[in-house]
Amino acid sequence: MIRLNPECPHCHQKDAIRKHGTSKIGLQRYLCRRCNKTFQARYYYRAHDHNLSRQIGELAQNGWSSQKIGRHLRISVNTVNRRLKNITTDKDYLVDKWISNNEISS
Ligand SMILES: [Zn+2]
Repeated sequence: MIRLNPECPHCHQKDAIRKHGTSKIGLQRYLCRRCNKTFQARYYYRAHDHNLSRQIGELAQNGWSSQKIGRHLRISVNTVNRRLKNITTDKDYLVDKWISNNEISS
């Protein structure tokens, strides 16, 4: 089983986080016991990644090919295609991605 170890986006510590139910759309919420704020797993989706996926999605909607998008954003075509596939899947992708990024290696 994957153990989650999210970092608080407010005080950036990982030691006093506990689960705090789920949001309306089913994303796990967490409560930071140190600063007493709640946050969602998807907040942890790296901002850069998120922006990149959004850019890819917007360009694709404008009819750009994967090759053109890749050149424009200076990423590989494979990355573009992977992102596009992920963008078209549902919100669970964000959570899954976040989980894999935050998996504790033991
Ligand atoms: Zn905190």
